[in-house]
Amino acid sequence: MEALRREIARRLGRRALFGEPMSRHTTWGVGGPAWCFCRVDSAAELAWLIQMAAQAGAPLKIVGRGSNLLVADAGFAGLIVLLRGDLARIQFGATAMVCGGGASLAKAVRRAGERGLAGLEWAVGIPATVGGALAGNAGAAGGEMMTLCRRMTLLLPSGDLRHMAAAELAWGYRRTDLPAGAVILEAQLALRPEAASAVLARREQHLRRRKASQPMSARTAGSVFKNPAGDFAGRLIETAGLKGRRVGRAMVSQVHANFIENIGGATAAQIAELMELVREGVGRAHGVRLEPEVERVGD
Ligand SMILES: Cc1cc2nc3c(=O)[nH]c(=O)nc-3n(C[C@H](O)[C@H](O)[C@H](O)COP(=O)(O)OP(=O)(O)OC[C@H]3O[C@@H](n4cnc5c(N)ncnc54)[C@H](O)[C@@H]3O)c2cc1C
Repeated sequence: MEALRREIARRLGRRALFGEPMSRHTTWGVGGPAWCFCRVDSAAELAWLIQMAAQAGAPLKIVGRGSNLLVADAGFAGLIVLLRGDLARIQFGATAMVCGGGASLAKAVRRAGERGLAGLEWAVGIPATVGGALAGNAGAAGGEMMTLCRRMTLLLPSGDLRHMAAAELAWGYRRTDLPAGAVILEAQLALRPEAASAVLARREQHLRRRKASQPMSARTAGSVFKNPAGDFAGRLIETAGLKGRRVGRAMVSQVHANFIENIGGATAAQIAELMELVREGVGRAHGVRLEPEVERVGD
């Protein structure tokens, strides 16, 4: 790993941070150090980094805003990579936008609205990157990322680029079946022209609903569990009497039972323990086994 460290430091300079706490890069605000946290500006740089990591046998993980991740307190013994620069651009056409994988979803929602392009308003308030949202097929209020996606450009672990029509990919509720190890470099989202005032008003409406039903100012990772078919994880957790339940500084939200809040100083272990407690409680009360929506990173 020492040779890899030297190579990365030489090429990325200050864009590579060794031992960077992941608590700074997750919305839950938990997670121990990444061996190396890298910010890359171009596809060529990313391809180089993937190749170097593979040669050294070091694990590599792409992150967006870390808004769906539970990173272990022990951290991640490999490279965590954030896409920015060329890989975070947003461009517009008459009925579509092209976003880099690292582009801010919040910015995409706002700018589409300002340009009078409709279709993405439901995503307001999701603190994600476009790549992260597509990788997990984020959705809300009847909208879903993959229904908007026309095509993607992927970087494969071999270093090859692959252009795929969305129709070539299988996807479903909170999942997109990307080729193994593929990174979304860019995606085209189909939108429809409409008066900007109408699009922005709808965006505001979605935001108001979200603020009324979710703990938006707390440190969370959104919904912790997937909704089981025909039901809502939040309803099951609430009716199992688990709202407000705590492990250390992690608490089942009083506002939305499917959110776990870091009320200040929580650890990943406390959140994981609370998740298990919720699963057991819901299993006992309703006979339903909840599946996590959040992804665990590191061990
Ligand atoms: C307040 C709040 C509200 C939320 N509301 C919603 C909601 O309404 N609906 C919803 O679905 N989710 C919601 N979430 C959860 C979360 O925001 C989404 O899952 C989001 O899509 C994660 O995006 P991210 O960029 O943060 O990805 P991360 O959490 O950083 O990563 C998630 C996964 O995507 C992968 N990934 C990231 N970028 C790429 C890329 N370019 N190419 C390939 N893989 C990539 C990562 O490796 C990881 O496996 C909410 C979270 C919060 C904190």
